Amino acid sequence: MNDLASRIASLSPEARAILESRLQKETVETQQGEPAIAASQEFDVVILGGGLAGLTLARQLKRARPNTRILVIEKSRHPAPEAAFKVGESTVEIGAHYFGVVLGLKQHLEREQLPKLGLRYFFGFGDNNDIVRRVELGPSSFPTQPSYQLDRGRLENAIAQENIELRIEFWDDSEVRQVSLESDRKNVVVSRNGLQLTVGARWLVDATGRVGIVKRQLKLAKQVGHDANAAWFRIADRIAVDDWSNDPEWKARVPSGKRYLSTVHLMGPGYWVWLIPLASGATSVGIVADPKIHPFSEFNRFELAVDWLKRHEPQCAREVIDRRDRLMDFRILKHFAHGCDRVFSRDRWCLTGEAGVFTDAFYSPGSDFIGMGNSFITDLIVRDFEGESIDARLEYFNRLFLILFEAYIEIFEEKYPIMANGQVMTVKVIWDTTVYWGITTLLFFRNKLCDLEFMSSIEKDVQKFIHLHSRMQKFFCEWNEAKAAEVSSGFVDPLGIRFFSELNGQLSADSNDAELRTRISRNVRILEVLAIEIFRNATRLLDLPLSNDEINPYAIGLKPERWQEDGLFSTTGHSGVDATLIEGVEKLWFPRGGARERTAAVLETAP
Ligand SMILES: Cc1cc2nc3c(=O)[nH]c(=O)nc-3n(C[C@H](O)[C@H](O)[C@H](O)COP(=O)(O)OP(=O)(O)OC[C@H]3O[C@@H](n4cnc5c(N)ncnc54)[C@H](O)[C@@H]3O)c2cc1C
Repeated sequence: MNDLASRIASLSPEARAILESRLQKETVETQQGEPAIAASQEFDVVILGGGLAGLTLARQLKRARPNTRILVIEKSRHPAPEAAFKVGESTVEIGAHYFGVVLGLKQHLEREQLPKLGLRYFFGFGDNNDIVRRVELGPSSFPTQPSYQLDRGRLENAIAQENIELRIEFWDDSEVRQVSLESDRKNVVVSRNGLQLTVGARWLVDATGRVGIVKRQLKLAKQVGHDANAAWFRIADRIAVDDWSNDPEWKARVPSGKRYLSTVHLMGPGYWVWLIPLASGATSVGIVADPKIHPFSEFNRFELAVDWLKRHEPQCAREVIDRRDRLMDFRILKHFAHGCDRVFSRDRWCLTGEAGVFTDAFYSPGSDFIGMGNSFITDLIVRDFEGESIDARLEYFNRLFLILFEAYIEIFEEKYPIMANGQVMTVKVIWDTTVYWGITTLLFFRNKLCDLEFMSSIEKDVQKFIHLHSRMQKFFCEWNEAKAAEVSSGFVDPLGIRFFSELNGQLSADSNDAELRTRISRNVRILEVLAIEIFRNATRLLDLPLSNDEINPYAIGLKPERWQEDGLFSTTGHSGVDATLIEGVEKLWFPRGGARERTAAVLETAP
């Protein structure tokens, strides 16, 4: 570091702000109108982009290593607007735990944001004019683990403010113009207050979202097999699905009458529509669709989106039309899923948030990936500053993060045609969430994803769950192709399924490493047994002849001609079905053709 740079870097933020404004006053525009170049400044970590990923990483790092000098450079001017700002408003357990516990933002979440009544799905039935006729999957009451609906502007403003109080340097209204990654010291040219500043740091993290400065510069973008488009808008009013019917039986399913606090998914063939309430009083509405089934040109402008809703989701369309005068914005995004060859580098740059990868908004995993990615980055940077050699950890984290990303992509790839199938999707949601709570979330809650020793001790179980998960994702496609029959009027409260609610509850239970290992093994066993149960019921519903032989869950598929060859009946290592592991699973099966009696039956057995 040169002398001037180190003197500037050692100034307090206030003194630096005064110096900057003086420099600004003294700036003389060059003849070409280019801004003058100010002196360089030094940091330990420079974060490009102060959106959700960048702001939270800065906070996590500062809490982990308080003397780290961190600069966050954000293009937009703060404070950000409330409501009509960004998407990424619904959290699930990992994201909620990351914000609330890891970052210590629980007070903000509880006071300034909305509690979330889980994920709720309404599958298509008929012309979708009567919500009561649609199969509903969603909790009757709040789960043990909290999650939240986020007003993104409100959240980013709060974190930025708290970060400044933590003495994190935050430059809003400042644009990153150039990045050099080659040398030991990473250099960034920033345009700020009409000045061109150069900042240097040992570590550089790209959190510029879809702009992805580093990803573009290093040509790291990777195509993914999943393709979907989205359009969304905010309405300055509450849209409460609770008001869509007065049917007493339907209302009684959720005694609080607060279905609107869920992330509501209106599901149809090749699409889903979200309704998310925001604490500022607005509602976020989004359409996400597979372009092979719903061309983007049919809903990529507001008027078109309303027409599209009238055709596919008429009850929702009426709510929007009634509030047309309170429309706050309208945004679109084509082909939103994207991958990346590498997210963490030994050259001391990292990518976080959408600057790295993005899968799909279904199941709201964006904040989860921010939480996991930022936790890996924090671990690496802190260890590096402590003088530890981090190369092996870094390669492991990079691989693990990208494996998790691929596993998520499989959840969505070619799955949009299933979206309308109440039976298959109900089972798939329970399966996907069992994998999520039983393995990934549990490891994140116990802060084990960064514990190499622990992770290597459960390697066999991790391999098993990845293999099984992948097999089941193919199975769900086959099942849907074999039968897309409608079921009507069913209701499943997932938390009424004992094994499933226990998985949610166990997330907060304390355990030592040995107990956690046992728990992970047990959860893999739950997945094996669940896979077999799902397979047996699917073959029953499809009238496929299946003997009572034991089933190998890792060879499940719906093509009888392949069963022998794939080893479906080879049971080595799979000790049959222990039904107690998946207690309550029978609630997932709808009678063929569907029936209102099912609702009554489920209500009777609900806890
Ligand atoms: C349709 C859709 C729905 C989604 N729904 C959900 C959901 O319900 N739940 C969920 O968890 N996730 C969801 N996501 C994902 C979520 O939006 C992202 O995970 C999250 O917003 C990513 O945050 P980020 O900080 O990476 O990017 P951003 O929030 O976009 O932040 C990037 C920042 O970088 C700044 N920037 C860009 N270029 C520069 C530059 N040159 N110089 C300085 N600053 C710059 C920008 O101004 C911006 O503030 C959704 C995504 C999509 C596409």
